[in-house]
Amino acid sequence: MDSINTRIKMKDKEYPIFVGSSLLNELTDFIKENHNGKKAAVVIGENANKFHGKKIQAALKELNPLFIPVPSGESSKSREMKEKIEDKLLDNKFGRDSLIIAVGGGVIGDLAGFAASTFNRGIPIIHVPTTLLAMVDSSIGGKTGINTKHGKNLIGTAHQPNAVFADMDFLETLSDEEFTNGLAEVIKMSIIKDKNLFDSLEKNHNKILSRDNDALRQIIKRNIELKKEIVEQDPFEMNLRQILNFGHTFGHALEAYSNYRIRHGFGVAQGMIVETKISVIANDLKKTEEERIINMLKSFGFPISTDKNIETSKILDLMKSDKKSRGNRPRFVMIDEIGKAKSKENNFSFEVKADVISKAIKESGYQFKIK
Ligand code: NAD
Repeated sequence: MDSINTRIKMKDKEYPIFVGSSLLNELTDFIKENHNGKKAAVVIGENANKFHGKKIQAALKELNPLFIPVPSGESSKSREMKEKIEDKLLDNKFGRDSLIIAVGGGVIGDLAGFAASTFNRGIPIIHVPTTLLAMVDSSIGGKTGINTKHGKNLIGTAHQPNAVFADMDFLETLSDEEFTNGLAEVIKMSIIKDKNLFDSLEKNHNKILSRDNDALRQIIKRNIELKKEIVEQDPFEMNLRQILNFGHTFGHALEAYSNYRIRHGFGVAQGMIVETKISVIANDLKKTEEERIINMLKSFGFPISTDKNIETSKILDLMKSDKKSRGNRPRFVMIDEIGKAKSKENNFSFEVKADVISKAIKESGYQFKIK
């Protein structure tokens, strides 16, 4: 066993995060030690089930858990799917003394986390992330949520897990597209908080793309440490945690605009291009740094401009319902330099005038279409 064990210390809860390979036996031992006698349900994503279901069933056999498979796709992060999970639990006589194990990508973690947080007023959950994005980002920090026609993640809770088991073996079956999707959050983290990480992503670019085990373990571990530092300091996104939304104001709007056909990481990558440009226009960020950011995104396979016919006025509208908005005015995380998000008097997101947003969109290769 070569797992790295770190712990997140929130005010009211502390939990371990394991990163490594072949962690499923450890997961079973952890549950037997910490949740003995509880009824367990495994909420598992379609592909995680297809590729790894048998292995997981075998490892958890002693616990005799109820398996609840969930179809792939962002559309599963819905009120209806949450209700289905809850009904399944109730039909099977799950009560207060139960445990959910979420096995899958960020969709499963967010959905199962939300269900766990309200079922019987809250039951424990263990995250077993199976995508890169879920390992480095969504399984850490306790945010849960679902989407509605009004936008992403607008309904949800903060519900810290009881443990996270990031088993890198799962990544072997992940498609290249999904792998790249997860890298967006890694690149984001380096831009907002760690120049060394940014440098090492540049340097180890080939190793990372060929999924070299050591290179991957290092970036996953570093990302988890950085996210841990941020969420421990600001569990409820009152200030510092907002920096995690770099690229997300535009990215989320683009995702919603595309009816969630654009993958989250790809939306965030496009968002980082536009929001980097906003920092350049505001004279916060040097043009040379912008070039490095764009080259980095390009080198990891992100498209650096999108459909020229995009209706930017609709995107601007969608940005108004972003959760950082104040008084219907969208706010953006800005960058002073690579590795450092801008802050002013404990504020980490900033209102940007509509003409600056339009200019940034236009200069980033988007057509601004006035309707
Ligand atoms: P996802 O959960 O949709 O997974 C992507 C695809 O990979 C799916 O088709 C899934 O079935 C498949 N998959 C999962 N594991 C696999 C494996 N091991 N092998 C092969 N295929 C596998 O997407 P995601 O990118 O993991 O997560 C995106 C979601 O996470 C979004 O809904 C986003 O809002 C959310 N998110 C939440 C937080 C948070 O803090 N809670 C942070 C970032 C993102």
